[in-house]
Amino acid sequence: MVTVMELYQLLPRTNCKKCGESTCMAFAVAMLGRKKNVAECTPLLEANFKKQKEKLESLLLPAAGAEETGMIVHSELCTGCGNCVVACPVDVANDPHGAGMGCAPTNNKVIFKVVDGKVLASNIKECRRFGKNKVLCYACIDPCPTGAIEFV
Ligand code: SF4
Ligand code: SF4
Ligand code: SF4
Repeated sequence: MVTVMELYQLLPRTNCKKCGESTCMAFAVAMLGRKKNVAECTPLLEANFKKQKEKLESLLLPAAGAEETGMIVHSELCTGCGNCVVACPVDVANDPHGAGMGCAPTNNKVIFKVVDGKVLASNIKECRRFGKNKVLCYACIDPCPTGAIEFV
């Protein structure tokens, strides 16, 4: 799943406020939360940002209109501790001999994995917050010591 930092790094990062947000980071958070869209950053319409704009649109396309969870992983806050990996009930159920034993995942059916010291989220359709029958699960948020996981 795309992270705030990935979006932020593709923005002009001038904090010009033309989008109505006070910083480009705030705009990246709002885009990920589907409260703002790429077109609201008008500096991106300049020719020198063409490739960055296209990349942003392609990154956000999977989330557009999808019934997804609104999960934001603030990778800049993640310490890679792995608490969320072993706390997520989906990880525990899908990987009983890895995450289910409080260890690193042993397969790719999990939602959370720590790669190079940062958590990555995938298989998001498995999340209990996904879709029409979603449940307000907090199991990954509560054990995170840095507040790196947020749902918007
Ligand atoms: S308009 Fe674009 S460049 Fe300006 S603050 Fe917003 S996101 Fe940053
Ligand atoms: S909300 Fe629950 S099911 Fe979804 S990723 Fe977090 S812990 Fe796993
Ligand atoms: S619990 Fe928080 S800090 Fe630890 S790996 Fe997960 S997101 Fe990163």
